[in-house]
Amino acid sequence: MTLTEKDSQYLWHPYTQHKTAQAPIAISRGEGVLLWDENGKEYIDAIASWWVNPFGHSNKFIADAIYKQLTTLEHVLFGGFTHEPAIKVAEKLIEILPKSQQKIFFSDNGSTAVEVAIKVALQYFFNKNEKRTTIIAFENAFHGDTFAAMAASGISFYTQAFQGMFIDVVRIPVPVKGKEQESFDALKNVIENNNCAGFIFEPLVQGAAGMVMYEPEALAKLIQICSKNKVLTIADEVMTGFGKTGKTFAMDYVSEQPDMICLSKALTGGTIPMAITTFTQEVFDAFYDDDINKALFHGHTFTANPTGCAAALASIDLLETDEMQDNIKRINASHLNFQKKIEKHSKVITARTLGVIFAVEIKSDSEESYYGSMRTKLYNFFIDKGVVLRPVGNIVYILPPYIMTNEQLSKVYQTIEEAIEMV
Ligand SMILES: *Cc1c(COP(=O)(O)O)cnc(C)c1O
Repeated sequence: MTLTEKDSQYLWHPYTQHKTAQAPIAISRGEGVLLWDENGKEYIDAIASWWVNPFGHSNKFIADAIYKQLTTLEHVLFGGFTHEPAIKVAEKLIEILPKSQQKIFFSDNGSTAVEVAIKVALQYFFNKNEKRTTIIAFENAFHGDTFAAMAASGISFYTQAFQGMFIDVVRIPVPVKGKEQESFDALKNVIENNNCAGFIFEPLVQGAAGMVMYEPEALAKLIQICSKNKVLTIADEVMTGFGKTGKTFAMDYVSEQPDMICLSKALTGGTIPMAITTFTQEVFDAFYDDDINKALFHGHTFTANPTGCAAALASIDLLETDEMQDNIKRINASHLNFQKKIEKHSKVITARTLGVIFAVEIKSDSEESYYGSMRTKLYNFFIDKGVVLRPVGNIVYILPPYIMTNEQLSKVYQTIEEAIEMV
C-alpha cells in the first residue's frame, strides 16, 4: 500500500469531508521552501505550511537547538518547577513585545492561547466582583477551534453545528476602508448595551477571512474606546506575529497597546507546537491575592515545554538577523510590484499587501463560498503546478517563508497569473 492508501484507512484530517475530498498528498521531505512527495514531485510551500514556517523546512539552526535541549532537559512539569529556556523566552519576548506586556503564560497552540486570553478576561472581572460576561469580536474573525475561540470566530462554516452553546459574543464590523465610522459606532453601541469584558481582534490582517486588511489608526481608535470603558483588549497575533506584517508584531504599527497578546504559529519557526498569551502587570495583579480561588486555574500538561522554548529562542534569533529582516523587506517590495501589475487585470477585483502577506480577489460569476467550486479548481491547478496555495473562496493569498528567493516568488506569481486566466 502507498502512504496515501494507508492514510485513508486510518486517519481523519482537519477541515476535511472525507467522502468528497481528494486523497491527501504524502510529503516525505522538506528543505527550505521546498517539499517533496512520496513520488518525488516537488512543491513550493507558498503559505509556509499554514503560516508557521518563516525560516524554511528542516532548518538546521533550529534543529540543532532542539537536539541540544532534548539531550539536556527534554521536558519537566511547569507546576512548581521552572527552567532556563522558559525564562529566556519570557525575557526575550518582554524585550521585543509592546511595552505594556509584562507577564507570559505558556500553552500549546493558537486556540489555547486565545482560550486562555478569553478566560482571563472573564475571570478578571469575576475576581473584581464585576458582572461582565460579553466578549466583542469582529465579523469573519478566526480565533481557533476550541470552544471559547470558536465562539469568538465569525466564520459560520466552522461553528454552525455549535450555535447556541457558546459564551456570549457580540460582533462588530471590521474597520476596512470606508467602514471605519460604522465599526467605531458599533463598538460604542455594543459596550453601552452589554456587560463587556473583552474585545478580541486579529490586528491589521484577518488571516482566515482571506487576508482582510485594515489600518492601524482605526484599530487604535477601537482600543481607545475599549480602554475608556475598561474593556480588556486582546490582540490575537497568532498569524501576524514574528515579522509577517513587516514589523515584529502587527501591534508595532498601532499607537495604542493591548492588555493581552496571543502568540503561536511562527513562534517556534514551524517546528514544535507551542503558544503564549502575554499580559499587562495590571491584568496579572487581578489574580494576585491571598485567596487561592482568584488564581488562574488553567494549564496544559506540556506547558512551557523546554524543547519548544529552545526552538522559540532559536527562531527569534533567526528573525532578528539582518539577513531575515532584509528578506522580509525584499519580499514586501516584490509583492508590491506584483500587486501593481495584477490589480489592473480585468478578472481581478482587488489586491493587497502587508509585509510578506499578499492577497488577490478574483472575479467570480457566482457567490463564492469558503470551500466553493472556484476554490477547488484553483487549489487543484496550483497543486498540479507544484505550488502549495490554499485559496479562501475566490481569494488567493501568498504567505511565503521569508527565505523564498526572487526566482521562487516569480514562479508563484506566474502560477497565480495562469490560474486567473484559467478560471
Ligand atoms: C491559526 C489561528 C488560530 C488558531 O491556532 P491553532 O494553532 O490552529 O489552534 C487562532 N488565531 C488566529 C489569528 C489564527 O490565525
